[in-house]
Amino acid sequence: MVTKLAENLYTTQVPLPDNPLRYINVYFIKGDERTLVIDTGFNRPECENAIQAAFDELGVKDADIFVTHLHSDHCGLAARFASRNSTIYTGEIDGEYINFEVGDLYWRWLEILFDKHGFPRAKEGRNTDYHPGKQYSLDKRVDFTYVAEGDVLEYGGYKLKAIMTPGHTPGHMCLYDEENKRLFSGDHILGTITPNITIELGVENPLGDYLKSLDKIDQLEVDHLMTTHGTPVDDVHERIHELYKHHTARAAEVVNLLGDKSKHAYEVAADMTWEIDCRNWDEFPMAQKWFATGEAASHLQYLMYEGKLEREERDGVYYYRNK
Ligand SMILES: [Zn+2]
Repeated sequence: MVTKLAENLYTTQVPLPDNPLRYINVYFIKGDERTLVIDTGFNRPECENAIQAAFDELGVKDADIFVTHLHSDHCGLAARFASRNSTIYTGEIDGEYINFEVGDLYWRWLEILFDKHGFPRAKEGRNTDYHPGKQYSLDKRVDFTYVAEGDVLEYGGYKLKAIMTPGHTPGHMCLYDEENKRLFSGDHILGTITPNITIELGVENPLGDYLKSLDKIDQLEVDHLMTTHGTPVDDVHERIHELYKHHTARAAEVVNLLGDKSKHAYEVAADMTWEIDCRNWDEFPMAQKWFATGEAASHLQYLMYEGKLEREERDGVYYYRNK
């Protein structure tokens, strides 16, 4: 079912089966000639059907798409729509990652990156085989139309300015409607959920990038935050403040857990507190251990760049200790 939010602006909840996020809010900006869809859901029939149902309800035959970032719950259906002659917009950095992830090399390198943070190899197959990014992402490359910082997309009488907000992913982008003080925030700022900040190929300090991108959005006037997961956010500046506090507390927890020992990210992740329905670390599903290790590593890297920790490499694994 489609909900009208403003003139020519609609949203629907697209289900994300077997995923703790449960759904993604997809936005539709209906124009006289073209409609813009912001994010798509996974490359799964359940998501495609939900978007098609919204098209039917809105009387839309075809649409262009803006992808906020590389994660499969946001870009999964981009290739399907590309085959229908839609223009698929995204930032160049995440666009390049999305196409890189269609091949196998990305996943082999990602597994090597996690080796460096102490993640044990699966007994059979690869750890990345359990990754929803691999399971539900694009099955073929897309000829994206790249959008750069400050570029403006015009649909349905709205002017949407692209804003780079790296952190949650290396090239995450938001769309800002300055006139109506409305921000389509992708996964940069969410309601009840704290966006996952994880390590990525080619990125040294994702949490540092993320905090800078929060600052950038804090400078904007935003009355309406269009979130993709979780509950709506009334006060974006208050939410930014909470996210800051969350990461400061997490960083302090990491410093505490290290004490006077030298540990890798997998060991730190096993001892951190997580909101998950498992009694202990051994019960965590593989994918959740993966995300937790990435999150721990991003805090360790951040603390290292802040000059609080030092890192040493032993047998190909990074160990961190308090200075
Ligand atoms: Zn995401």
